[in-house]
Amino acid sequence: MADLLQEDIKYLKGVGPKRAELLKNELNIFTCRDLLYIFPYKYIDRTKMFKISEINSSLAYIQLTGKITLFRFEGPPRKKRLVAEFSDGTGTIELLWFQGHKWVQNSYTINTEYAIFGKPSIFNGKFNVVHPEIEKAGDQDSEFNASLQPQYSTTEKLKNNYITSKTIHKLIGTLLSIIGQQIQETLPEYLLKSHKLSDLKTAIFAVHFPRDNQQLKKAIYRLKFEELFFIQLGILKQKTNRQQYFKGFVFSKVGDYLNNFYKKHLQFELTNAQKRVIKEIRRDLGSGKQMNRLLQGDVGSGKTLVALMAVLIALDNGFQACMMAPTEILANQHLQTVTSFLSELNVNVDLLTGSTKKAEREKIFETLKSGELHFLIGTHALLEDPVIFNNLGLVIIDEQHRFGVAQRARLWKKNDNPPHVLVMTATPIPRTLAMTLYGDLDVSVIDELPPGRKPVQTIHYYDTKRLVMFGFLKKQIEQGRQVFVVYPLIKESEKMDYKDLEDGYEGISRAFPPPRYAVSCVHGKMKTTEKDIAMQYFINGQSQIMVATTVIEVGVDIPNASVMVIESAERFGLSQLHQLRGRVGRGADQSYCILMTSHKLTTEARKRIDTMVRTNDGFEIAEVDLKLRGPGDIEGTQQSGIPFDLKIANLGQDGQLLMYVRNIAEKILENDPDLKLPDNFLLLNHLKKSVKSPVDWSVIS
Ligand code: ADP
Ligand code: MG
Repeated sequence: MADLLQEDIKYLKGVGPKRAELLKNELNIFTCRDLLYIFPYKYIDRTKMFKISEINSSLAYIQLTGKITLFRFEGPPRKKRLVAEFSDGTGTIELLWFQGHKWVQNSYTINTEYAIFGKPSIFNGKFNVVHPEIEKAGDQDSEFNASLQPQYSTTEKLKNNYITSKTIHKLIGTLLSIIGQQIQETLPEYLLKSHKLSDLKTAIFAVHFPRDNQQLKKAIYRLKFEELFFIQLGILKQKTNRQQYFKGFVFSKVGDYLNNFYKKHLQFELTNAQKRVIKEIRRDLGSGKQMNRLLQGDVGSGKTLVALMAVLIALDNGFQACMMAPTEILANQHLQTVTSFLSELNVNVDLLTGSTKKAEREKIFETLKSGELHFLIGTHALLEDPVIFNNLGLVIIDEQHRFGVAQRARLWKKNDNPPHVLVMTATPIPRTLAMTLYGDLDVSVIDELPPGRKPVQTIHYYDTKRLVMFGFLKKQIEQGRQVFVVYPLIKESEKMDYKDLEDGYEGISRAFPPPRYAVSCVHGKMKTTEKDIAMQYFINGQSQIMVATTVIEVGVDIPNASVMVIESAERFGLSQLHQLRGRVGRGADQSYCILMTSHKLTTEARKRIDTMVRTNDGFEIAEVDLKLRGPGDIEGTQQSGIPFDLKIANLGQDGQLLMYVRNIAEKILENDPDLKLPDNFLLLNHLKKSVKSPVDWSVIS
């Protein structure tokens, strides 16, 4: 039966080559198995019949019985539509077809009793149903008209070729009648029993042909369980494999670098969260296993310092370290921070970016190879082939969400034995997503800001209040503060965005004229040196206002900047808004984030703005984001991509189940890391067949 399920969908009765082509292109259905694993997105009650007189615009679907009284054509010749008048004694509505006119006229006859089903809409002031489903009255008490009728996603193209939700349902019915009895279980008996799960065959039948709600619920639970469980089992199995395969460098001692730094040069007390995380990292580094840890912490929580201390441990043990950041500005800032912290420690640090001069590069490559250079900071340039370390022991990746998994893997290969890896992100990722995206990593969280920080106050203004906003900025500047004004930059509308930025810069320069004020501007089209000059100007306090695109989004630390104005805030995603807000509130002063929007806001945009005004909690914001947009669109996943195509589970809603099954998978692997026990045979078997990961960690060496 495994073979039957692998069969090309075109061989299924009722499909054929033409429909198969459509199913492949539109729904990714290649094999019979694919068809079976297309699940309904909802169920509709088809036992309810309406009267035409009862129709109103709030009904999502209607089902009527009555007769077609006439057919006619309307509209210009090239765009004509077929109209049928349909009456049931209480009134008349129109049925409309834009395609397939001949087929419709051949299939249905005037004055025959039909049941029609579809979505009512209003056209020319009258109710109508476009492309209704039609069948002979009386036929509809077949199995396809149960009270829970599944609805499958289709596309315009499929519908135009008469592949409706109902067609798909029928095909699944056909398939199940052929192979249904042979569906093989994928979960071992002991799991079915202890978690009270339906067997797979029952679940598949019930999800497509539910008898009642209770049975359906059980089926959906079982299928979600299976889907999430195998993803987690796959991720955790890779982690187990990796730990068996690689020996981590053992950083056994804490030496002069860390001790001197901690005792003599650290000017403030670490927060409890920082202390805890450093302990977790030290445990990893001394364990003999290779560290792969994700450090999450809101902007300004002090991740860089934690990373730096890990670097000092590597140096104390005679290893080199590197730190990769997503932008030059950020890499530069890290260099400055690190040099100021380490000025008296005799650590050789250098910076490598795309704009490092040739002679300088050569010197870096050389000293890196010889081991003279201890710590290299940089951008993507670190990934290039000539960057060869003498003995790289630790890799730090800042703002991990800007990099893909493949880049993480490339840094691994900089050493024969992979270095320890610490990835950091200030984009709080909802737990469910983190466990799926970074499920092979251990996670540390800094959930506490350094003392004395006042939470940023967030205000929403409509564009009409621009003058009020300017007045506010003037007051802040009078008190010696500095201001960011950020414009959106979206690839598709880049030209217009730059126009907005230029207009905005002009407007602000006019409202804040010299000699009293100076306004800087930074955007992605400027040369690096120009950018740096403008940035430095602002950092030194020579200008009070920095107008910028989102190039300043990540990491930049300017404690004296206390106001962040975000223009066209409705165009930003939630996590980006949160990131931007994190640029201020780093000093001791009260800071503000002002969200400027037009009056026209979509429901979602309003929700985003309201969420920003209501809370500063990055994790809460991430959860809202996940619910609003679904996991595929969450910032931070776009680059790395969600490697799993979920067919029935939903990371926004099934978080609890996800934790639950991850736990089960963990326990199973603890007892049986290679899944070699007879009880787990099914698991190993199914895992081999089903789970694909973008990178096979076990082969990276
Ligand atoms: P993140 O990278 O997490 O956004 P940073 O590491 O840039 O945050 O830290 C933000 C600021 O807070 C820096 O100026 C840093 O020196 C400072 N800082 C870090 N830890 C502490 C602490 N425990 N107490 C006071 N200030 C701290
Ligand atoms: Mg940072």
